[in-house]
Amino acid sequence: MAYFNTMSRALGPMNWWPARTPFEVVLGAILTQNTSWSNVERAIANLRMARMHTPSAISSSSLSRLAALIRPSGYFRQKAKKLKAFVQFLDKEYAGSLKRMFDTPTVVLRERLLSVHGIGPETADSILLYAGNHPVFVVDAYTHRIFGRHGITDGKPAYENVRALFENTLPRDPRLFNEFHALIVNTGKNWCRKRDPRCTECPLAPLLPPNSPLAQSLSQSSIALQGSRSTRSKPA
Ligand code: SF4
Repeated sequence: MAYFNTMSRALGPMNWWPARTPFEVVLGAILTQNTSWSNVERAIANLRMARMHTPSAISSSSLSRLAALIRPSGYFRQKAKKLKAFVQFLDKEYAGSLKRMFDTPTVVLRERLLSVHGIGPETADSILLYAGNHPVFVVDAYTHRIFGRHGITDGKPAYENVRALFENTLPRDPRLFNEFHALIVNTGKNWCRKRDPRCTECPLAPLLPPNSPLAQSLSQSSIALQGSRSTRSKPA
């Protein structure tokens, strides 16, 4: 909770997920695979303009038309097949009703989602949490990076192990999981970059373990900064 509280105090409310309907969350969760969110927004805007942002419209569309509309999201042919696979699953298992789908117990629904073509653990958990309000923790590359650098996860842990770590440690509250993941993404994007993490400006810097290489380089740079300030302040 120290991580959650520190990021929340520094960054304020995240108001995720940026979508107008639960089905748009599903669309975004699939389209965001291997691309930036700005590309997803363009693809979803195309679907809205063409009135193709509902399960029934996607179900009755041709694959080629769907692929053309979501082209900005990249890998558009594969993603069109994934969207089709999801709506076929929704039709077959839940008569096309997202509400009926989300009324399914979390564990059962997660397993079913994972059996759909193109839905892996991160996509399934994003759908469950952000569209269905189910208490599952979404793990992404930023989660691995931040908590790896802070020594909370070791090496390259499996997705399920990191998910279990959060879900077993925190209160099982979907609102908390929703906000926590959004804060992690924000911190990862703005400070905890793959190369050259900006620890000096990062809200999570006070939580770096003192013996970690990043904490040590942080303290060396702050000593150097203090040294240069005291040199500058000496009278000529
Ligand atoms: S303090 Fe450094 S390692 Fe920790 S989250 Fe921020 S940028 Fe990443």
